Amino acid sequence: MMETAQEVKTRVYKFGNKTADGNSTMKNLLGGKGANLAEMGLIGIPVPPGFTITTDVCTEYNQLGQDAVIAMITQEVEDAIENIEQIMGSKFGDKENPLLVSVRSGARVSMPGMMDTVLNLGLNDDVVIGLAEKSGNERFAWDSYRRFIQMYGDVVLGMKPESKEDIDPFEEIMEALKHKRNIELDTEFTIQDLKDLVYDFKEAVKKRTGHNFPTNPWDQLWGAVVAVFNSWNSDRAIYYRKMNGYPGEWGTAVNVQAMVYGNMGLNSGTGVCFTRDAGTGENVFNGEYLINAQGEDVVAGTRTPQQITKLGSLRWAELAKVEEEDRAENYPSLEELMPTIYNELNEYQKKLELHYRDMQDMEFTMQDGKLWILQTRNGKRTGAAMVKIAMDSLKEGLISEKEALLQIEPSKLDELLHPVFDAKALKRANVIAQGLPASPGAATGKIVFFADEADHYKSSILVRIETSPEDLEGMNIAKGILTARGGMTSHAAVVARGMGKCCVSGAGALKIDYKKRTLTVDGVVYQEGDWISLNGSTGNIIEGKVATSEPELSGEFAELMELSDKYATMQVRTNADSPKDAKVAVKFGAQGIGLTRTEHMFFEVDRIKAMREMILADTLKGRKEALNELLPMQREDFEGIFEAMEGLPVTVRLLDPPLHEFVPHQLETQRSLAEDMHISLEAVKIKVAELEEFNPMLGHRGCRLGITYPEITEMQARAIIEAALNLKEKGIEAKPEIMVPLIGTIAEFEHQEAVIRATANKVFEERNDTVEYLVGTMIEIPRAAITANLIAEKADFFSFGTNDLTQMTFGYSRDDAGKFLPTYIEKGILKVDPFEVLDQEGVGQLVQIGTSKGRSVKSKLKVGICGEHGGDPSSVEFCYNTGMNYVSCSPYRVPIARIASAQAAIKAQQ
Ligand code: ADP
Ligand code: MG
Ligand code: MG
Repeated sequence: MMETAQEVKTRVYKFGNKTADGNSTMKNLLGGKGANLAEMGLIGIPVPPGFTITTDVCTEYNQLGQDAVIAMITQEVEDAIENIEQIMGSKFGDKENPLLVSVRSGARVSMPGMMDTVLNLGLNDDVVIGLAEKSGNERFAWDSYRRFIQMYGDVVLGMKPESKEDIDPFEEIMEALKHKRNIELDTEFTIQDLKDLVYDFKEAVKKRTGHNFPTNPWDQLWGAVVAVFNSWNSDRAIYYRKMNGYPGEWGTAVNVQAMVYGNMGLNSGTGVCFTRDAGTGENVFNGEYLINAQGEDVVAGTRTPQQITKLGSLRWAELAKVEEEDRAENYPSLEELMPTIYNELNEYQKKLELHYRDMQDMEFTMQDGKLWILQTRNGKRTGAAMVKIAMDSLKEGLISEKEALLQIEPSKLDELLHPVFDAKALKRANVIAQGLPASPGAATGKIVFFADEADHYKSSILVRIETSPEDLEGMNIAKGILTARGGMTSHAAVVARGMGKCCVSGAGALKIDYKKRTLTVDGVVYQEGDWISLNGSTGNIIEGKVATSEPELSGEFAELMELSDKYATMQVRTNADSPKDAKVAVKFGAQGIGLTRTEHMFFEVDRIKAMREMILADTLKGRKEALNELLPMQREDFEGIFEAMEGLPVTVRLLDPPLHEFVPHQLETQRSLAEDMHISLEAVKIKVAELEEFNPMLGHRGCRLGITYPEITEMQARAIIEAALNLKEKGIEAKPEIMVPLIGTIAEFEHQEAVIRATANKVFEERNDTVEYLVGTMIEIPRAAITANLIAEKADFFSFGTNDLTQMTFGYSRDDAGKFLPTYIEKGILKVDPFEVLDQEGVGQLVQIGTSKGRSVKSKLKVGICGEHGGDPSSVEFCYNTGMNYVSCSPYRVPIARIASAQAAIKAQQ
């Protein structure tokens, strides 16, 4: 056989004992978890030894299958296990001195709860006895064993509950035993109980799968490795990738790591911590832990976790209404309970934040008084926390201005631009209970109890005892999430913060009955479909609907935006059709209007009639009469918008859509229009039918309207120029930029330009005054992009209308694309919807060609983009690299585009 490069590449990377084959720059190959475990090892943080099977192997697994891949890596895996054995001084599968491992997934980006982890792997009926003897702790050995069977059963052997109302089969067995023994907590099981559980668990596995639980540790290991690979293509992982736009090719790495035990007794435990507050961004170290517990227990929300810091503990007690005496005795912080370990942890969290220059989310385990760090990563955070952390870190000198700007995920600012509860409405609100403020925001909706029913109402609140990874899709759909159990680091809390979704967790006063579908608080019963509201910033749960109000751009957010202006060279304008939109956009920092669509103004009730009369008129005279009625209304619209923009440039596009869109299609409206116009119903019907087109998007629209009916262009030009003059009289500057849509040839532009300039001159003469204005064009037909040098001879500016340009370049009708685009994306024919994210490869080339050809004849030609893409961060970066003067987007996306513009400039410098 031929030796190919593939066969000699390294597929397994070791770490441990302060050395590592990898490091934190290798996230694509080792996954985030694996790369950071290696890096922590290198910088002297105590990490249990282990190894990472690369993401490439996952891809190979998907192509070649299980047997081929196992054969390919067996030797490397055996060597790596031997390496762990040497460091730990124990042996995998050994009966006297056993090494146990965890098998953990880890993609290049963290996908919380996406992939499953198996702990305590390597146990069987013989090894458990060895573990008991070696540790001198029989209870611990059997507790580990029952956990292992449970996790391995769920993750590898498919022992998940059968229906959504059912609980996990293992939990069911445990609950039954707790009931029988009249105990509440896992920690109260006796050794005999644990042995019984192991027996019953194995029976359950046999009954459900038809096979015995695997006893050979190596079989167990390969089973778990394959399960991790398979989990990459589980429904929930696919959904999460789709939600975040991550490609399937990435694959997941597999980490195999020596176990350290948090369940060895009262001197052991496990926890999760953050170097800053992931919800608010406040610079306080915080987190939760549980004594005598393993990994998942903290996140699972089955026991109430305790706070790591004393400050956090006091704050928690206040929210949970726990008296100080009770707190200090039953829920002390780690800082109080184990000060030495706490101090060590505190050192590591500082060191890691400094090292990674960003807020860290860490996992740790204490085994018999020794601290181990199991994971670190840049912590997920809410939009508000993201802004505060970046600005604080800048002020503290931890990071530079550029780093602060680059730390911002532009799309996440969206969360800060959404409504909050109206302060007045909040005062009247009836607060029925309080939970933990797990993820800030305001949410109002109807109660649903199951994630897959979140879409039953337009606005729903998902109410659960606790959430699990299966609930991801429903959590995303719901307006807010409420759980009865779980702390600030529970699954619900972490995932909600990542999504920027309002979440209140651990509201102990809630009694939830899944079967009856009711929520009971203090004896009051709420049914599925009842309205409730959540305040994710205070943890308040409120009866009914609460009004919301518009957000403000203030504090750190305002500072951040100011900072972006220091680096951004490409401007951000807005698309606005009304003074109201224009004002919102100015508030968010828009530097002009890139697109005002005049047709929207014609759809208002009092105007549509005049518009229809104009369209249906048979004569030039009739059309002019109707246009005369429209003129004052248009002028007023423009005055309002110019005034709102206070001297900033405003691009007004002349009428664009096919006329058919304006005429009535219902008999009743047709009849009343006929009456108003004193013509027969029949005549109206004939006219409407005449206007119908086979391909309206390629039909009689855009400048074609203005060329066939120059009086329309005349009226619009007059309205724009008169409005500007009227404002000038009031001492307000207006900067109109008149834009001709849908140009394909220079002759089209010349025709319209002549009409516009003649009209303007006429108005100037009438008024004996002038204003400055520009006449430019949309570039949205491929022919225009290709002949841009000709068009630029005449046009004052270009604005790329990438919606139409995408439509015409792909040949996809935007109105019909819904029938096939989803399939295209599913089948990988297209990676993303080109109407959302600019297709840089194809459409982008036309944009580049158009820009450079235009500038070849007019070097200072002003070039911008309007259309949905103007607010998409990756498209903004593309526009910057193309050398555009501005992007234009909807008002609420202006701050996002401003940050993206600054980031593009910074990245280009680097
Ligand atoms: P997730 O990606 O869902 O967080 P992890 O792989 O990080 O999954 O593991 C789940 C839990 O198990 C975490 O709390 C982690 O700290 C713990 N854990 C993982 N490996 C070990 C180990 N070798 N020893 C002790 N605890 C572990
Ligand atoms: Mg983890
Ligand atoms: Mg268009």
